[in-house]
Amino acid sequence: MTARIRNAACRCGQLRIACTGEPIRVSVCHCRNCKARSGSAFAAQARFPADQVRTEGEAKLYQHPGGSGTLADFYFCENCGSTLWFLNRPGLDSYAVPIGNFEPGHDFEPQFSVYEDRQEPWVCILGEAIERL
Ligand SMILES: [Zn+2]
Ligand SMILES: [Zn+2]
Repeated sequence: MTARIRNAACRCGQLRIACTGEPIRVSVCHCRNCKARSGSAFAAQARFPADQVRTEGEAKLYQHPGGSGTLADFYFCENCGSTLWFLNRPGLDSYAVPIGNFEPGHDFEPQFSVYEDRQEPWVCILGEAIERL
C-alpha cells in the first residue's frame, strides 16, 4: 500500500511541505508562544518525522524559545508571512506543521492538549482520548 501524502502550503502558495504517512503526534498548545505565533487562542499542529517530509520553495528561518525555554526553528514564507513548519531543538528531528495550512483541509484530531493551565477560559478542546498536559 502506498503511504498517504498530505500537502500543506503557505497562503501565497510558494512555500510547500509534503508529509508522507501518519504524524507522530497531533497536538494543540495553549502556551503564550503558540498564541503569539498563530495570532490565535491556541495553536494546533501535526508532527512528522524529518524523513517523511519534503519541502519546496523559499523559507525564512526565525528562532525563538518555545514554552519550555528551548530554542525552536520556525520557517515561514517571506512573502505572505505564514509559518509553515517548525522544529524543536535540540533534536530537530521532526517537523511540526500547523494543521490549518493543510490543503484542501485536514482530518487531524488532537491527541494532546498542552499547557491547559494557560488555556483561554472560553476554549474547550473536546475528546475523551485527549491527553491533557
Ligand atoms: Zn507565502
Ligand atoms: Zn505552545
